Amino acid sequence: MIRSAGQAFYAPALTPYAAEPERSAGRRYAEPGTTTRTEFQRDRDRIVHSSAFRRLEYKTQVFVNHEGDLFRTRLTHSLEVAQIARSIARNLGVNEDLVEAISLAHDLGHTPFGHAGQDALNACMKPYGGFEHNLQSLRVVDELEERYGGFDGLNLCFETREGILKHCSLKNARKLGDVGQRFLLHRQPSLEAQIANLADEIAYNNHDIDDGLRSGLLQIEQMMEIGLFAHHASIVQTEFPKIGDRRLILETVRRMINFLIVDVIETSRVNIEASAPKDIEDVRGGPAMIAFSDGVRIEADDLKRFLRDNLYRHYQVQRMTSKAQRIVKALFEAFCADPGLLPSGHQARAQSDQPRAIADYIAGMTDRYAMREHRRLFAVDDL
Ligand code: MG
Repeated sequence: MIRSAGQAFYAPALTPYAAEPERSAGRRYAEPGTTTRTEFQRDRDRIVHSSAFRRLEYKTQVFVNHEGDLFRTRLTHSLEVAQIARSIARNLGVNEDLVEAISLAHDLGHTPFGHAGQDALNACMKPYGGFEHNLQSLRVVDELEERYGGFDGLNLCFETREGILKHCSLKNARKLGDVGQRFLLHRQPSLEAQIANLADEIAYNNHDIDDGLRSGLLQIEQMMEIGLFAHHASIVQTEFPKIGDRRLILETVRRMINFLIVDVIETSRVNIEASAPKDIEDVRGGPAMIAFSDGVRIEADDLKRFLRDNLYRHYQVQRMTSKAQRIVKALFEAFCADPGLLPSGHQARAQSDQPRAIADYIAGMTDRYAMREHRRLFAVDDL
């Protein structure tokens, strides 16, 4: 038998500043505990079983769902975020179950068609308080999931909800009570929430390179202008001079992900040592501690800029983007003009706040559902 090379890995024990399920700030509705899972494991399981989570499979990350079976969707993106976040959490001795729950839930509020859908819905909702996808993710787990007898939403722990609400306008923060407080007081969330946030960035920057190259919208030669990619690609080429393009890309992306994770772990460890938090409250009152090193931050920003200019603004992506925006806008306007077109459950919600109920309905749609709904409402040959 061939034994795997390398040293054995031992995860450090949970640190005093990790989020502890036993000391959670609790759920919005009191529930009896269980003996088989921690409260954060329960949260993760509730998220995995939610219908919003299943819908992530058919929501765009960059490429619209039907453009190809190999591209990332919001679901595979969320799984990659969870994997990266757990690796970082384990190494820093903080709560892996909590980072997993936050990672899996972080995009639940995303509209169909990625950022194009979110921008269009935000524009439609401008007169009615706007639309923010982070806030919508929280709304999904707090109110919109309908699975429990005793309450709306999933009734998650405060720490999970705190992590899901990554950003929030001050206006909305004032309305949110406990989870909104930190934005008003300029405090940090738990290390677990900070980790999920950075893992999101590591995941999308890297998988967008892979998907961009796979789609043919980006070329390897172009990527070689980006320091981070060029550095790792040249190591791969030296190690495997005859490697084909596809494996060169995958080996490079794999090494970049590992490099970024190691950089976050090492930098954050130093930051944590410098701040020396005694518990999670010290974490919340201290500076942000989960971070890239300064040099890598610059490189990661270069990569982000490159992807924005060359992939997200590529004319073929832009065409889909503009089509998606028209679909979302047309749906919103049609439902506003005649709320009687809404399915009955949503009509009931619309009685208390019509524009918000319409936004909730549209935000919950998958890409293909939105296209189908658009066809049902507008195609004259489809009566
Ligand atoms: Mg994300």
